[in-house]
Amino acid sequence: AYKLQLQAAAEFINRQDDFLVVSHIQPDGDAASSTFAMGWILKQLGKSFTLINEGLIPAKFDFLRNTDPIIDFSSERPSRRFQNVISVDCADFSRMGQISTLFDDQVQLLNIDHHPTNDRFGTCHLIKHDAAATVQILYDLSVELQITPFMEFATCIYTGLLTDTGGFRYSNTSPEVMLIGARLLALGVQGSVIAEQVLERVTFSQLILLQKALSTLAFSHDRKLSWITVSQQDLIQSGASSDDLDGLVNYPRNVEGVEVGMLFKEKEPGVVKVSLRSAGNVDVASIAQALGGGGHVRAAGCTLFETLEQAVKIMIQEVGKELT
Ligand code: 5GP
Ligand code: MN
Ligand code: MN
Repeated sequence: AYKLQLQAAAEFINRQDDFLVVSHIQPDGDAASSTFAMGWILKQLGKSFTLINEGLIPAKFDFLRNTDPIIDFSSERPSRRFQNVISVDCADFSRMGQISTLFDDQVQLLNIDHHPTNDRFGTCHLIKHDAAATVQILYDLSVELQITPFMEFATCIYTGLLTDTGGFRYSNTSPEVMLIGARLLALGVQGSVIAEQVLERVTFSQLILLQKALSTLAFSHDRKLSWITVSQQDLIQSGASSDDLDGLVNYPRNVEGVEVGMLFKEKEPGVVKVSLRSAGNVDVASIAQALGGGGHVRAAGCTLFETLEQAVKIMIQEVGKELT
């Protein structure tokens, strides 16, 4: 069935032109890499396209940029509409944010994704739940389209694999991931340079934010549940941007004995983004989904329209039910 999906997606791309390529709000490494990789595929095929996202691509991914930068919808709003859309790494329609206001009423939408909670919102689907990252699917698609891999494209694919597998460590680090990674390295991709840039380096504000966040570390349920909170004030005082929160949730999750780690980020008064990470058998995707979010079994998220304190209470209650 995957092969048939690849063929249908290739046909979708070959048949149409003038694409809008969109990923999810608050783009992560896979979102950024997938968007640029899709741009490279379309460029190779001589198609015209616009790359767009709601929210800035974190600066540490700037090395992926090519001559077609990703437009940040919050600063620059195209005045036209698009008939042909390709969404990458978006589990549901709402993950594209305000970008969907640019879609034509008759929009043809190719939905390329790897989230188990993907609700098949497009008109054509290329969805592989056991792909480690959306870029893994794009690599397969480039093979289907008979595109000879080249350095810039290979760098995008490698970066998305690296970030969504947590540096080739998470359980999604499959033989396929390593095989593709090996091919990309053989092409000359600078694996260690990318890893240093994307995974190791921290900004000054990021470390100050970590200092503040760790002072909020708390536990419940015999230390099976742990969390940290980041208030608006913490963000302002540290000068941290939203992508400086990357990886913070791993601190509570990684504590010995902890089954679920949580990060609460106050986006604005009354709006809290919750990140959930499972270290055991708890399926955090279904917990997040029940609260209007989604994600993967071991990494998921949702947004609660509550105060920071109230959001913490709700999540202790909801996750607590799943802890034995
Ligand atoms: P994070 O906690 O890093 O923001 O997200 C972890 C995972 O959960 C990611 O795979 C992301 O796609 C998914 N996720 C996070 N927040 C949401 C949300 O509000 N809705 C959906 N559908 N998925 C989310
Ligand atoms: Mn993503
Ligand atoms: Mn992804």
